[in-house]
Amino acid sequence: MKIGIYGGTFNPPHAGHIKAAGDAVRVMNLDKLLVIPTATPPHKELPAGTATAQQRLEMAQLAFGGVDKAEVCDIELARGGRSYTIDTVKNLRERYPEDELWLIMGGDMFFSLESWYRFETLLSEVGFAVADRADESEKLREYVEHMRHEWAAKVEFIPERPVEVSSTELRQRLEKAEGRELLSNEVYAYIIKNRLYGAKAQLEWLREEAIKLLAPKRVPHVMGCEQEAVRLAQLWGEDVYSAAAAGILHDITKKCSANEQLLLCEKYGTVTDALELEAPKLLHSKTAADMAWVEFGISPEVREAIRWHTTGKPDMTMLEKIIYIADYMEPNRDFEGVDELRRLAYEDIDQALRLGLRMSIEDMQARNIVPHPRSSGALEYIENSLRQRGL
Ligand code: ATP
Repeated sequence: MKIGIYGGTFNPPHAGHIKAAGDAVRVMNLDKLLVIPTATPPHKELPAGTATAQQRLEMAQLAFGGVDKAEVCDIELARGGRSYTIDTVKNLRERYPEDELWLIMGGDMFFSLESWYRFETLLSEVGFAVADRADESEKLREYVEHMRHEWAAKVEFIPERPVEVSSTELRQRLEKAEGRELLSNEVYAYIIKNRLYGAKAQLEWLREEAIKLLAPKRVPHVMGCEQEAVRLAQLWGEDVYSAAAAGILHDITKKCSANEQLLLCEKYGTVTDALELEAPKLLHSKTAADMAWVEFGISPEVREAIRWHTTGKPDMTMLEKIIYIADYMEPNRDFEGVDELRRLAYEDIDQALRLGLRMSIEDMQARNIVPHPRSSGALEYIENSLRQRGL
C-alpha cells in the first residue's frame, strides 16, 4: 500500500488543507491518507484561547470526512507531549511494516526539512510529497532537486494550484465575521457553536440557519424585523451587528408546538415560570434565546434581547427595547396604531415602548388573556421613568 501521512495543527482545518489532501491522494495515487492532528507542534506555540486538542481532532474529522481515502488518526494526540514526526513515523512503521510511507506537506514545512529532529533517519523511512501553498512552485522545484541530489531523498512535487490561506490568517478573519468560504459548513458551524477563536457568526449564515427553522410565512416578518432593528440601532447608537443577529434569531422556535417547546426547555436548560408553562406560546422567546446561545454563538446581550422580546420586562436595555419595538412594528405589520408606534420609535424609543406595551396588554385583555406580570412590570417601569422626564 502507498500511505500518505498528513500532519498539522489544523487549528482550524481549512480549504487549503482539504484541497492539498485531495490533490495528494490523486496525484500520488495513495491507497490511504492518514490525517494526523499534532499534539504540541515543535515549531509553533498555539495561540491563547485556541481550540483544545480534542476539538482540533473533531474538526479534522468533519473537514476531511469528504476527502476520498482520508482517515483522521489520533496517534499523536494519544501519545501527548511534544510531537516529533520521527516518533510518529516509527509508530506507523510498526503498524505498516511493508508499506510505502509518504509525508505530505506544504512548501513552508518542506523548506525547513533539513532542521527537523533526526532528519537523516526520517529520510531513510519515508518519501516526501510537497504541495505548493503560496504560488512559489519554481522555488519549490529547485529545493526538490536540491533534496534529491544532496540527500538522495525520495521527493515528489504536487503540481497543483493552492488555496492560499493559513489557519492564523483565517482565525483573524473569523473574528471579523469573515472567512466562512474557507471552511466546510460543518467546521464553520462547529467553530461558531463552540465559540472558538472569538469567531463572530456571519449574518448571512445566521439568516440561512434561521430560515431552516422558520415557517415559510414567517420569513418576511423576520427579515423585516432585522432591517427595522438595524435602522433603530443606527439611530439610537446601539451595536448594529447585535441588533441584526437578534432580529434574525428572535423567532427561531416560534413554529414549535407546546410539547416541542417543553422539550427545548429541557435540552437548552431554559428556566420557566408557572404562567409560561400554562401558556407555552410564551415560551418561544425564551427557548429561542437559549437555543441561539447554544447553537449560534451569540453574545449575552443578544440572548437577553431575544429572551424578552415577547413580554418585555422592567428596566430594559436599549437593545432589548429595539428588538421589542422592531418585532412589533416592522414594515410587514399592519394594525391600527402601528403608524404612531413607528413615528415614536424614531422620535423617542421609551414612548414607543410605553405605547407598545399598553397596546399589547389592552389587546390581551380584550381577548380575555391574562397578560404576563412581566409585561405589566415593564409598563409600570417605563411609565415611571417617562414621568420623571415629565412625559
Ligand atoms: P498556521 O497558520 O497556524 O501556521 P497552517 O495554515 O500553516 O497553520 P497547519 O495545520 O500548520 O496549517 O498545516 C498543516 C500542513 O498543511 C502543513 O504541511 C502545511 O504546509 C500545509 N498547509 C497549510 N495550509 C496550506 C495551504 N493553503 N495549501 C497547501 N498546504 C497547506
